[in-house]
Amino acid sequence: RTPDVECGIVVLGSGPGGYTAAFRAADLGLDTVLIERYPTLGGVCLNVGCIPSKALLHAAEVIDAAAHATEFGVSFGPPKIELDALRAYKEKVVGQLTKGLAGMARQRKVRVVEGTGRFVSPHEIEVVAADGGTTLVKFEQAIIAAGSQALKLPGFPWDDPRVMDSTDALALADVPKRLLVVGGGIIGLEMATVYRALGAEVTVVELGEQIMPGADKDLVKPLADRLKKQGVVVHLGTRAAKVDADKKGLTVSFEGTNAPAAQTYDRVLVAVGRTPNGGRIDADKAGVTVTERGFIPVDRQMRTNVPHIYAIGDLVGNPMLAHKATHEARLAAEVAAGEKREWVARVIPSVAYTDPEIAWVGVTETEARAKGLKVGVGKFPWAASGRAIGLGRTEGFTKLIFDEDTHRVIGAGIVGVHAGDLIAELALAIEMGAEAADIAASIHPHPTLSESVAMASEVYEGTITDLY
Ligand code: FAD
Repeated sequence: RTPDVECGIVVLGSGPGGYTAAFRAADLGLDTVLIERYPTLGGVCLNVGCIPSKALLHAAEVIDAAAHATEFGVSFGPPKIELDALRAYKEKVVGQLTKGLAGMARQRKVRVVEGTGRFVSPHEIEVVAADGGTTLVKFEQAIIAAGSQALKLPGFPWDDPRVMDSTDALALADVPKRLLVVGGGIIGLEMATVYRALGAEVTVVELGEQIMPGADKDLVKPLADRLKKQGVVVHLGTRAAKVDADKKGLTVSFEGTNAPAAQTYDRVLVAVGRTPNGGRIDADKAGVTVTERGFIPVDRQMRTNVPHIYAIGDLVGNPMLAHKATHEARLAAEVAAGEKREWVARVIPSVAYTDPEIAWVGVTETEARAKGLKVGVGKFPWAASGRAIGLGRTEGFTKLIFDEDTHRVIGAGIVGVHAGDLIAELALAIEMGAEAADIAASIHPHPTLSESVAMASEVYEGTITDLY
C-alpha cells in the first residue's frame, strides 16, 4: 500500500513528551507529523492530569483559606459550591492550554494526524481514526511518546460508574458523601484534598506503612497531621480487597494487620499507579523491544534498540512526571536532528500538590542512610520563619542533605505551602554542585519561604546554632 503521509519524523502521542518533541524537531528543520488518538493535544498532563488537578486544587485551597480567615478576624459564610461552574473553570484552564498547543503546531507546520497509531513495519505506522478511516504514515525516524494509563485493580467492578480512576475523579460528576481513595500516593492524596474541601467524607487506604511512599517519613508527617485534623481517615498497611456494589453503595472489605471492618462508600477512587502504554502500539512490528510491564528500554540518547526509533516519557520508565517527559523529548528531537547530546540530568524533582505541599529532589535521607552514604542534614523549621508565621502555616520545614566530605548538597526535601516552587532552587543547586556555603552566602529575599533554604544550609554549616 502506498503511504498517505510521508515525513522525516513521526511522533506517536501528543502528551508533554510528544508535543515537546514534535515542536523541537520542527524547529530544528525536520518535517514532522504528530499522531494523537484524542481530539485535543496535550496528553494526560494537560487533559486529565497535572493541569485539571491543579485547577481543582486551587479551588480547594481557596475554600480552606476562607475557613481559616477567622484566625485574623475575617469570616465568610460556609462555601456554596456550584459544581457546574467549577467544572467549567477547570475546562477553561485546560482548553486555553490545549488550544495554545494546536496553534503552536500550526505555526511550526507540524501535521497532526488524529487516530490511534500502531506500527506496521520499521518505517510505517497505521493510524485508525474514530470513524474507522486509516492513514498510513511513512517515516524516516520515529519518537514513541504514547505515555501511560491508570492501573485498574483487578476484581473491582469497573463497569460501575461509582468506581473511578483519576480521569473519572477529575470529571467531577458529583461530590460523594463518602469517598474511599485506594492508594495514598501523590495522585490519590491530591484528589482526596480536592474532594475533602468540596465536602466529601474521605477515607484513604494505603498498602505501605506511610502515605506518599518515596518521600522521607518526617516530610510526610505535617501532611498526615493536617489530613487527620481535617477529618480524613487514613488506614496504612491496608489493602482494599473486594468491592460489592449494590443500590446502597460500594461495600469495600479490607485486608491487613490494621484493616478496618468492611464499610460502604458512595464512590471509590482507585489511584494505585500507572501502567506504560508500550505494549499497545505493536512495537514488535518495528522490532522495538518492550518489557513485560510495557516499558520501552532506551539508551542515554533516548534511542530504542532500533536506532532510528526513539522513546520518551512515561513509557520509558519512572518517575512518570511531565517535566521528565519534556526533558527527554528535547533530547530525542535534538539527537534525531543530528546533534550530539545525551541524558545529563542528575536529579528530577517530585512534588505532591497537597496541602501542605511535599517536594523532594535528589537523594532522600532514607535512601542515603540505607546506602550507607556519609551525609549530614541541615533542617530549618518554618516555625522560625517570619513569613510562615504571617501565613499561619508554620508546620513546614526545609531539609537539605549534604555529602559530609564535600559539603555539596545532594538531596532536599521541603514540606509546607509552595514547597513545589521552592524545590526548584535545590534542583539547580544539585545540578551546579553547590556547597552549603554557596547556598548560605546567596542572598535570599526577606521575608520569603525561600530563606529557609539558606537557613537550612547555615544550620548544617553551624553558623546558626539557635533559631531566631
Ligand atoms: P501522556 O501524557 O500519557 O501522553 C501520551 C499521549 O499519547 C496521550 O495523549 C494518548 O492519547 C496518546 N496515545 C497513546 N497511545 C496512542 C496511540 N497508539 N495512537 C495515538 N495516540 C496515542 N506529572 C507532573 O509532572 N506533575 C503533576 O502535577 C502531575 N499530575 C498528575 C495528575 C494526574 C491525575 C495524573 C494521572 C498524572 C499526573 N502527572 C503529573 C503525570 C503526567 O501527566 C505524566 O507524567 C505525563 O503526562 C507523561 O507525558 P507523556 O508525554 O509521556 O505521555
